[in-house]
Amino acid sequence: MATKLLDALREDRPGFTSSQGGPECYLRGKSRGGCLKPADRTFAQTTQCQQMNAIATLLSMEDSVFIVHAPDGCSGCASMFNESYKVGQYHRGKRVAKNAHIVSSSFDENDVIMGGETKLRTTIRSVVQRYQPKIVFLFSSCSSGIIGDDIDAVAAELQKDYDSTVIIPIHCEGFKSKIHSTGFDVVFNAIQNYIIGDDRPETEEGLVNIFATTSIGYADQLELERMLKAIGLKVNYIPFFSSYEKLKKIPAAEYSVSVCQVFADTYMKFLYEEYGIPYVITGMPVGTRSTDRWLTEIAKMVGKEEEAAAFLARERAAVLPEIESLREKIQGRRVFVCTGTGRGVAAATLIEDYNMKLVGIQSPTYEDAYVDDYERLAEFHGDDFIIDVATMQPFEQVNLVNRLKPDFFIGIGSWVDKLGIPNTHILEPKRPTFGYRGVVYLGRKIATALENTAWADKMAAHRKLPYRDSWYQQDAFHYMKREEDEE
Ligand code: SF4
Repeated sequence: MATKLLDALREDRPGFTSSQGGPECYLRGKSRGGCLKPADRTFAQTTQCQQMNAIATLLSMEDSVFIVHAPDGCSGCASMFNESYKVGQYHRGKRVAKNAHIVSSSFDENDVIMGGETKLRTTIRSVVQRYQPKIVFLFSSCSSGIIGDDIDAVAAELQKDYDSTVIIPIHCEGFKSKIHSTGFDVVFNAIQNYIIGDDRPETEEGLVNIFATTSIGYADQLELERMLKAIGLKVNYIPFFSSYEKLKKIPAAEYSVSVCQVFADTYMKFLYEEYGIPYVITGMPVGTRSTDRWLTEIAKMVGKEEEAAAFLARERAAVLPEIESLREKIQGRRVFVCTGTGRGVAAATLIEDYNMKLVGIQSPTYEDAYVDDYERLAEFHGDDFIIDVATMQPFEQVNLVNRLKPDFFIGIGSWVDKLGIPNTHILEPKRPTFGYRGVVYLGRKIATALENTAWADKMAAHRKLPYRDSWYQQDAFHYMKREEDEE
């Protein structure tokens, strides 16, 4: 049996933080100097926990049931991922989309005092009987972790009774890590240890594992597959809309690629060390510069650079006239970007295509893996754009956006609508964002939103955000205690 992969938490990585803020040149200087430290937040709004990421990563698995060993509230966010799952089924041709089988063990005060393992056993038995799944994923939580319920022992005990169902415990207690992306690592850890184990399947020529994050929709999956087909690769797409059999095939791949610098990066390294599967970390193919880099780096790994260059030249020629025409309409506008870390950096390269200027970016994390990307952005946008490193924390975002007064906002716009700033959404699994086709699609969306600002205008006129005027006068990073501020 393979040994456990990931003992370290993401916050133990050097140069990693989920709470910092300042101009790009400041954070890059600190990071390169080896002295970037997380700031302490003295006030924080609600945040995302690693359990959410672990659930979101697996929720679209076929033939699976998901048990959250927790009070009911912990699985509240699953409804959001369930919606994406249903949309994903529709996009994949299912006209009657089903709900994910997500079940809470409904931990209560009594269980916290007396222990919840009996309730967990009952829950597992009842879901196996009802759904006969191939896999039961068992997610821990703060409460079950704090009282020491042994989900591994319960899984091992009940596994003896079931031949056709694998019971997989996932250790994703929210309190263990402030970095929600740790939830990705614990998922890959469980996949390796409980599904792949000691399997050593024969290598399939031309097969590439594509490790994709939760925000990637079917249109983008097809675009990735189309780009990779152009250089002779076929895709094992992991872990969305995946299956027990597809996960089993992970070690049979000839190569591994992730579409984000920090998704599955540790796991790809493990696959290289354990199975000799080469991998490349290339960022996300949003915007022409990021798309070129993504495919070219993969092509270098597989020795198909000429084919990739020819494909990219054809793609560019097909969309260049429309990009130029859209650029005429939207260039020169100042933009604030707010999405996931990898997608945010890539979205900032997209606005280069339209000659727009980046003034600020909010990102859940900042780490060594992104410093070069930020430096490349600084070559185009200057090194004075503001980076707000925050998991959610809309109060900081609102303060910054109000202060920087961008002409356009890329991200979820429910807050900035009320400041009257037109916006569009890029973090969505519903529409295409990848490759050259994605550049045109997003360019059209930006142009349309800038052309008709009626929604944001009306929202600003009739709706107020819940902050006092005094908050807008404060420094956006007022509630971050940074070491250097105390010197
Ligand atoms: S696991 Fe902990 S942090 Fe996550 S939702 Fe439950 S109580 Fe909150």
